[in-house]
Amino acid sequence: AKSKGKGLFAVFEQSIANATLQRMELEVSLRQALERQEFFLVFQPIVAISSGEIRGFEALLRWQHPTHGLISPTVFIPIAEEMGIISVLDRWVLKNACQQLHQWRVQHPELDLTMSVNLSTANFIFANLVETVTETLDRTQVAGKNLKLEITESILMKDPEATARVLKQLKDCGVEILLDDFGTGHSSLSYLHRLPLEGLKIDKSFVHEAQYSPQSMEIIKTIVSLAQGLKLKLIAEGIETDAQRRLLLGLGCDLGQGYLWWKPMTSRKASNALQHRGIA
Ligand code: C2E
Ligand code: CA
Ligand code: CA
Ligand code: CA
Repeated sequence: AKSKGKGLFAVFEQSIANATLQRMELEVSLRQALERQEFFLVFQPIVAISSGEIRGFEALLRWQHPTHGLISPTVFIPIAEEMGIISVLDRWVLKNACQQLHQWRVQHPELDLTMSVNLSTANFIFANLVETVTETLDRTQVAGKNLKLEITESILMKDPEATARVLKQLKDCGVEILLDDFGTGHSSLSYLHRLPLEGLKIDKSFVHEAQYSPQSMEIIKTIVSLAQGLKLKLIAEGIETDAQRRLLLGLGCDLGQGYLWWKPMTSRKASNALQHRGIA
C-alpha cells in the first residue's frame, strides 16, 4: 500500500511539474506574442433584440499560439495580469478596436456603430488610462461617444473613489461605461447611482438559466427594473435561443448579443455582416 501511495504521489508531483513548466512556457511566449503579432481581435455584434439590426460590436481578444493553437482570453488574461503586462495588451486592443470602428463608421455612416472594449480590473486605474483613451480617440478619429468601455464590479471593490474619479474623467471625454457580468460579482447596489454608468450587461449565466431556474428569472427581472429605475441601458449577453430572445424582449431589454445572431468573428466576416445592413 505504501509503494502504491508513493507511486500516486509521484504521478501527482509530475503533473504539478508539468503544469508549472507549461505555465512558465506560456509566460515566456506571452511576453513575445505582441511583437510576433500573434494577437488578433474578433468582433461580436451587439444587436437590437427586436429587429436583429447591428448597433455596434464588442471587441474580444484572441491569441494564436504557434504550437498550442488558439488560447482563450480566460486563460491568458489572468496570466498577463499577474505578469504586469496587461496594460500593454489593453492599449493594443483599444487602438486596434478604434481603428476598426473608424473604418466601419466611414463605410456605414447610416448605422452609427459603437465599439465596446473590455478593460482589465488589474490595470483599470493605471496611471494614464484617460490620456491613453483620449490619445487613441484622437489618432483613430473616433468620437468618445462611439466608444464604450466595459468594466466589472470587482473594480469598484478595489478602489471605489479612484474608480469614480477615472470614470468621471472618461465620461467627460464622452466615453460611456458599461458594467459587465452584472450580478455575478460582489454587487454593492449603493455605488450604482453614484457612478457615471451608461448601462449594465446581464451576464450570460442568468440568460442561460432563466428558462429553468425561477431564481435566475427573478434576478433578471430585478436587474431590468433596477436599470429602468436608474435610467441605465441594458445589454443581455449569451442569447442563444429564440425563447431567450423573446423572454428578454418581453422584459424590456433592448440590446443583446449572442450566438442566436452572431458568434464573435474576424474583422473580414464582420465586414460582410455589415454589408447585409446588419441583419443576421
Ligand atoms: P466577457 O467580456 O463577458 O465576454 C463575453 C464572452 O461570452 C465572450 O467570450 C464571448 O465569446 C462569449 N459569448 C458571446 N455570446 C455567447 C453566447 O451566445 N453563448 C456563449 N456560451 N458565450 C457567448 P470570450 O471571447 O472567450 O471572452 C472571455 C472573457 O475574456 C471576456 O468575457 C472578458 O472578460 C475577457 N476578455 C476578452 N477579450 C478581452 C480584452 O480585450 N481585454 C480584457 N481585459 N479582457 C478580455
Ligand atoms: Ca465584456
Ligand atoms: Ca460579460
Ligand atoms: Ca464574463
